[in-house]
Amino acid sequence: MSATIIDGKVIAEKVREEVRLAVANMQQVHGYAPGLATVLVGEDPASSTYVRSKQRTCEQLGIRSLGYHLPAETTQKELENLVAELNANPEVNGILVQLPLPKHLDEEAVLNKIDLAKDVDGFHPVNIGRLAMKGRDPLFIPCTPAGCMRLLEETGVTLKGADAVILGRSNIVGLPMAMLLQKADATVTICHSRTKDLQAHLKRADVLIAAVGRTEMVTGDMLKPGVVVIDVGINQKEDPTAKRGYRLVGDVDFESAKEVAGAITPVPGGVGPMTIAMLMANTLRAAEIALSKK
Ligand code: NDP
Repeated sequence: MSATIIDGKVIAEKVREEVRLAVANMQQVHGYAPGLATVLVGEDPASSTYVRSKQRTCEQLGIRSLGYHLPAETTQKELENLVAELNANPEVNGILVQLPLPKHLDEEAVLNKIDLAKDVDGFHPVNIGRLAMKGRDPLFIPCTPAGCMRLLEETGVTLKGADAVILGRSNIVGLPMAMLLQKADATVTICHSRTKDLQAHLKRADVLIAAVGRTEMVTGDMLKPGVVVIDVGINQKEDPTAKRGYRLVGDVDFESAKEVAGAITPVPGGVGPMTIAMLMANTLRAAEIALSKK
């Protein structure tokens, strides 16, 4: 058996197209386009690349992009003042503070200061709290888990009653993913570095979300036949034949897993493209919320 490959590039393009159309419609009806402020502190090359990519996608979809690049030695007070300024600016619908911040800054304190209605990353504790609670909905869902849910939805996976296993419990991926799957009526097991018998949990999984950051740690023989695998991991694997000397692989060994799974996301080209697409969808939603308050 060879698994269905879940094509994140195609599904992300579908999401972007939906956003593009909705933005054009908003512009036509209200004379208003959503605006996303990106805040980058310091010169971390990976963070700079992510921010540039987010700004470029904004431009492609008709979303206004306002970039703020602060020096690495920015103080907590200066950063929080900027967030307060952006909170008060009606031209800004979404505020994205690129993480990680330089070590001397208190990330949690900064994220807490972002206006709930502009929290397009979905990391504000109140948004996360609402995600955890029965009968409550957050204003925004964190982008990577939201992207994983959209991949499952587009693949037609039945989540009600399914046994879902999540590998990893980080605040940005594993934990919100667990809450989303639980809200979708799956029976959720969260595994982490202290889990006793990972293999036993994996063998029961109808749906597996791998978000550990360990090169190809899950192999085909560990999986239940027919499982749907969403591989969030992005790891560098040495490869002398590649131009950069390495290639990107997931937390799941794609080659062996695809022979056992019912469906699987590749790395790259699976979850990766979804994250920015969902950020754009969240920014559109933020603008809709702002318009509804006018
Ligand atoms: P973190 O490092 O924050 O969390 C990793 C989690 O994996 C932790 O909960 C840890 O457990 C668990 N873990 C580590 N080793 C093992 C093990 N041997 N067995 C079981 N569990 C283990 O990572 P993130 O959640 O931030 O990211 C995970 C991966 O996803 C990374 O490769 C990252 O690059 C990628 N990523 C991809 C994104 C995308 O857009 N595609 C977006 C965000 C992340 P414990 O809590 O006990 O330490």
